[in-house]
Amino acid sequence: MLYSKSYIFTQKETPKDAEIVSHQLMLRSGLIRKSAAGLYSWMPLGKRVLDKVINIIKTEMDKAGALEILPPFVTQGELWQESGRWDTMGKELLRFQDRHDHDLVLGPTHEEAFTQIIKETAQSYQDLPVNLYQINTKFRDEIRPRYGVIRCREFIMKDAYSYDIDDEGLDKSYKAMRKAYLNIFKKSGLVVDPVLADSGKIGGSGSEEFMVPSTVGEEEIVRCTCGYVANVEKADSIISIREAKKETALTKTQTPNIKTIDDLAVFFQCDTKDLVKAFVVEADGKLVMACIRGDLHINEVKLLNLIGANEMVMADPDRIFTELKAPIGFLGAIDCAIDVIADNSILDMQDTVVGANEKDMHYKGVSIKRDCKITKTGDFHLAEAGHQCIQCKEVLSSYKGIEVGHIFKLGKKYTESMGVTVLNQNNQAITPTCGCYGIGVGRIIAAVIEQNADDNGIVFPITIAPYHVAIVPTLVEGELMQEAQNIYELLQEQSIETILDDRNERAGSKFKDADLLGFPIRITVGRSWQEKQEFEVKVRRTGEVLSVAKDKILDTINDLLKQEYGIIK
Ligand code: ATP
Ligand code: MG
Repeated sequence: MLYSKSYIFTQKETPKDAEIVSHQLMLRSGLIRKSAAGLYSWMPLGKRVLDKVINIIKTEMDKAGALEILPPFVTQGELWQESGRWDTMGKELLRFQDRHDHDLVLGPTHEEAFTQIIKETAQSYQDLPVNLYQINTKFRDEIRPRYGVIRCREFIMKDAYSYDIDDEGLDKSYKAMRKAYLNIFKKSGLVVDPVLADSGKIGGSGSEEFMVPSTVGEEEIVRCTCGYVANVEKADSIISIREAKKETALTKTQTPNIKTIDDLAVFFQCDTKDLVKAFVVEADGKLVMACIRGDLHINEVKLLNLIGANEMVMADPDRIFTELKAPIGFLGAIDCAIDVIADNSILDMQDTVVGANEKDMHYKGVSIKRDCKITKTGDFHLAEAGHQCIQCKEVLSSYKGIEVGHIFKLGKKYTESMGVTVLNQNNQAITPTCGCYGIGVGRIIAAVIEQNADDNGIVFPITIAPYHVAIVPTLVEGELMQEAQNIYELLQEQSIETILDDRNERAGSKFKDADLLGFPIRITVGRSWQEKQEFEVKVRRTGEVLSVAKDKILDTINDLLKQEYGIIK
């Protein structure tokens, strides 16, 4: 391909609203262009990268026995009503009506649509197991689209759905996908960790996320040297045990303007571990108080599951005041007008302090079991670095990660709610069990760039680079251009993906663009040719520079390509 015909627009300046390296570089290199909030166009070079990742995904999915289909991106509202998610998905699910007033949805995920296909096609155990997948557009009306294609509203996802007649089958399907995913990420040049994950609103039992360790990751992961790795949303941990205190008398005491847990610890001259924090949440419209030990944080997913609600937000302070007659900072579980959910960390506490549900007042000398009316107890503390591992009791550490893929053992949630049955070997109707498996294609590319970039730009792994070799003649006329053309034809004949920078630009700015765009190998036809009839070959990843004679150029390029592929496999 000729650079001048490639419709590439690079820019030197870092775009103002791009906060992270991958977003900045994807815009600067012109791989993508922003159309509107969370909406991006993949430009010619970017589309080549996208297609390469898609091909890797297809190859691995097909190898694992999955079958590609192409269902519509838009799904019927009825399906979502049937599964129950019409009422629980919130505003991420973009709904609209057609001219006949039928409810429609821009598909954010396709459990319902695929399950409907299975319902209408699979009749008996002989038709199962089956794993169907699509590589298709998704739309999620994300509340805060950011980081470019990492969290956008319209994006390409590969999503697969497996249907088996029993749990043993589901285990097999899940394992095959897990293996395919590890291969996909490896071939794309990504280093990922599979981590234990929460199944979230989608439901089901086991689930793992594939995390790319990165300081800009939105997910927090805890890990232990014993091999335990989990998203904090899912992670369990052992917290430090605090020294037991003796039972004392309950008294009410004035705490003027002492609202935060740190202020209280100073005021009562104790550790935050000796205090109780109270939060009020609004769960499916109802206020609920959650109480936890002062030094711990709440795991919202676990709390939501414990309450058994679909939606949960922090409650509005005005509403809290109306229902509890006290402002935030003075709330507590004694004589509380709403349900109280207590974390296990506080159950044995004595001689502690809790808000008195009255402005500027707290109770001290509180024994939780003696004095508080608790509706429900459970474990909803957030696992954090410094806690102990539940597997081996070693101290946990933590890191941030970008989630690039997620696999779930969904079970019968959708097949049951949508009434799917097939006949088993004994001619009895059974409900198939399902797994679902998603990968964000654009997010993979952004994550690769986060992991593979330097001050000069992108360093594409060979497997997904838009072109393998860039040829840069320092002059685009005369002998230099002729030699550049010769190498270009030679490499083209060998099906090596090559771009010839035929622009009449300064050599320096062409080198800068080649570096920014991350082509793995660059051949310069310039001074070395004029002085000693050699070409300069540079490896983007290592910065290694070779001086190569004309008759050795093809072998050298082939060797370097082999070397670059070798890193991936
Ligand atoms: P997140 O927690 O980041 O919102 P999710 O748990 O909602 O992700 P899934 O429903 O599991 O994501 O979707 C599967 C994959 O689709 C994710 O692992 C991710 O790679 C990709 N993905 C999800 N949401 C987006 C988005 N808004 N923009 C780009 N890719 C996304
Ligand atoms: Mg999401």
